[in-house]
Amino acid sequence: MTDAVRSAGFFTAHLPEADPEVHAAIQNELKRQRHNIELIASENITSLAVLEATGSVFTNKYAEGYPGKRYYGGCEYADVVETLAIERAKQLFGCAYANVQPNSGSQMNQAVFLALLNPGDSFMGLDLNCGGHLTHGSPVNMSGKWFKPIPYGVRREDELIDMDEVARIARENKPKLIICGGTAYSRHWDFQRFREIADEVGAYLLADISHFSGLVAGGAHPSPFPHAHVVTTTTHKSLRGPRSGVILTNDEDLAKKLNSAVFPGLQGGPLVHVIAAKAVAFGDALKPEFKAYAAQIVANAKALAASVTAQGLRVVSGGTDNHLMLVDLSAKDVTGKAAEKGLDRAWLTCNKNGVPYDTRSPFVTSGIRLGTPAGTTRGFGEEEFTTIGQLIAEVVDGMSRNGDDGDGQVEARVRDRVEELCSRFPIYPEL
Ligand SMILES: *Cc1c(COP(=O)(O)O)cnc(C)c1O
Repeated sequence: MTDAVRSAGFFTAHLPEADPEVHAAIQNELKRQRHNIELIASENITSLAVLEATGSVFTNKYAEGYPGKRYYGGCEYADVVETLAIERAKQLFGCAYANVQPNSGSQMNQAVFLALLNPGDSFMGLDLNCGGHLTHGSPVNMSGKWFKPIPYGVRREDELIDMDEVARIARENKPKLIICGGTAYSRHWDFQRFREIADEVGAYLLADISHFSGLVAGGAHPSPFPHAHVVTTTTHKSLRGPRSGVILTNDEDLAKKLNSAVFPGLQGGPLVHVIAAKAVAFGDALKPEFKAYAAQIVANAKALAASVTAQGLRVVSGGTDNHLMLVDLSAKDVTGKAAEKGLDRAWLTCNKNGVPYDTRSPFVTSGIRLGTPAGTTRGFGEEEFTTIGQLIAEVVDGMSRNGDDGDGQVEARVRDRVEELCSRFPIYPEL
């Protein structure tokens, strides 16, 4: 480093001075997160401690390999945080092995495919149109391009997974892997029955609990263990950690294969700063307060579902057992795409989402997906979520009357109510 660079503040200048443009975007994002009600079911608000670990000096460190078996020197503190993350993950989910290195949810699932399947092998997963994830066999994803997906769906009548149908498809196709778990399914999964079916056809069972892992960790949702051979989860959804993934198992052989698949199979140096943040988040989730948080997420989701239903909107499958729900807007003649925009104008953030057997394209859709983890982190309870349900219905009704531009007066009134709610439950006062 030259003296000129050093004097220009390389080690001393904070971001506002060092890069005003990026700093401004970050400040604007903070403002958005403060004054919008976050209803995207896959998002959450991390602790300040998780933010600090994510922004720590571990971003400088290469640590290819695993604790105690690294390809680089100077890994003693990387070993400390990775070991903490592993031990805490095992305790949190009650299992024997954890790999905390996947950089994302998609990569954790790629690692499972690499470890357990060969290209061209067939596997079963929930149909994307019924709430499955891209990595569970979408034709545009590697899982669907290099492997042979056999989707199962939900019943038309009650929008629930028909386990007899899952068994029938499994017997007929003899897949090597069955995946349960999804991104937009609001009901419990019958892990035990999935395992019985997997055993009958000689398949591995993968439970991808990305969405509801915080509920599992907090005891507010049945655990996939001991039924699943492998469990994967993102860490940034209901689990409330940094953006990342984790792979869990009780089987030593599988653990070895999965470790090799993550590194060197798919990844190089792990994101040690994110692993440190995962350790912090897992430590937080082990505290008794997290149990109360998980229970409140579910209570809030039930209150939100009841509220939108009372306002005349239709909740897919009639309700929710977890943190999310799909709301079908077809009867209001409002598309999911338009509703997402209209709600955003009113500072209610959610995403458009297809409903089962949707007749509209995935870019338009007939529904929206709503989730309670982020609002629950702010401190919202059932009363606030009942209000939020009313606000959502007011905005949607405005669009039902006036078309996609909505009712400007209604939306202005809703913004006032959102502002009032958010100011009573502020986030990140230190930032
Ligand atoms: C979110 C999610 C993923 C992927 O996570 P990314 O971090 O976005 O790659 C995988 N599976 C399921 C079920 C998910 O919900």
